[in-house]
Amino acid sequence: MMYKQKNVLVLGLAKSGFAAAKLLHELGANVTVNDQKPLSENEEARVLEALGIRLVCGSHPLELLDEPFDIMVKNPGIPYSNPMVQKALQKQIPIITEVEIAYHLSKAPIIGITGSNGKTTTTTLIYEMLQAAKRRPLIAGNIGTVACEVAKNTRDDQVMVMELSSFQLMGTIEFRPHIAVLLNIFDAHLDYHGTKEAYAAAKGNIFKNQTESDYAIVNADDELVMKLAEDGHATKVFFSTTKQLNKGAYIKDEAIYFNNEKVIDISQIALRGKHNLENILAAISAAKLAGADNDAIQHVLTTFTGVAHRLQFVADINGRKFYNDSKATNILATQKALSAFENERVILLAGGLDRGNEFDELIPYLKHVKAMITFGQTASKLERVAREAGIETIKRVDNVEQAAFVAYELSERGDIILLSPACASWDQYKTFEQRGDMFVNAVHKLK
Ligand code: ADP
Repeated sequence: MMYKQKNVLVLGLAKSGFAAAKLLHELGANVTVNDQKPLSENEEARVLEALGIRLVCGSHPLELLDEPFDIMVKNPGIPYSNPMVQKALQKQIPIITEVEIAYHLSKAPIIGITGSNGKTTTTTLIYEMLQAAKRRPLIAGNIGTVACEVAKNTRDDQVMVMELSSFQLMGTIEFRPHIAVLLNIFDAHLDYHGTKEAYAAAKGNIFKNQTESDYAIVNADDELVMKLAEDGHATKVFFSTTKQLNKGAYIKDEAIYFNNEKVIDISQIALRGKHNLENILAAISAAKLAGADNDAIQHVLTTFTGVAHRLQFVADINGRKFYNDSKATNILATQKALSAFENERVILLAGGLDRGNEFDELIPYLKHVKAMITFGQTASKLERVAREAGIETIKRVDNVEQAAFVAYELSERGDIILLSPACASWDQYKTFEQRGDMFVNAVHKLK
């Protein structure tokens, strides 16, 4: 095994560093862990210490890198501008993330999914489709389970479905997914990567080690994605929501086709939103290449109502449909959610942390909104926007639970009640997940 007796420095613990350190120790590496948090407050570090792993906690001492390390395993959250990382680069110590270790340990082929938006949805769809097709998928990566931990127990008759962030992909050397999906590239995380080029290049790393026997699933509607795929050696499979293709996944006559065979009518798909069609086309391509049949794919697409907090269908109560889009922590996401229901009457529940936005960009999207219920720091700003958009019913409440109740009171049969806050949650909630859960619980109480 390539990690045996190697001197490895694990920089930054958290969930992924902890798992990597423990695993490398089991594999016979000489592991040193360096974490900013002092040992007294660092439960994870104490667990590792009890296993006999060497710890340096409380600071990042540069002298540590004077020791002869063979590899640095960096937590994806630590930027390359960190002085420890800079010194490792100067000393030409290879820097990886746990995704690289996962690749080396996995006996199962890997499907890797990356992009600026839609990763979790697409990863989940692929996983569900392969599950329905009895292909024994495992889900890992950015989505919650640490990839190297999942990888160590894999068998070759399984498939690893991995959500990959650009931060993780930067720390790859030999990582080579059998199927790589690149969804889209928007301006994001420029604080970490510096330039859009650097960010795009990190995403492009998903293709760099692929060979002809591998597949690259490429969004033909995204120029930058197309450009990044050009240099790769994998067999390319394109998808497009805007044009018919000779091969790959596309839309024709309100139905989805893959390699010129009809897979499903769009009207049968449970997931809402145009942006989700992009995710669905990518997911179908990957699932088909990994051996899923149309029955399995149709089963998932007719029943899957969304990943939690992402335009997730919650319940139909007396003809009112409730959707939880708590993940919409910015204006763009709420615009997408509103567009998904453009032919329906919507009651919008919005508000949260004030980042100085005025929300005028929402106005063109509010035409079909009959009532707006606001909460949190941005309540009054959103109310101004609602008045300008001509919304008659505007109500302020204290929290999302009250918002659900008031929305129900104001609603009639056929209405869509949509929590899509357009703001981060931290003024009132720990996370957007907590906010969404509070809303979902309130909706269930209405039953
Ligand atoms: P990620 O894991 O990349 O953050 P998610 O699947 O969790 O993506 O979706 C997060 C949000 O991003 C969604 O609520 C939606 O607003 C937006 N989104 C999802 N898919 C796409 C897409 N293909 N194109 C543009 N925006 C999208």
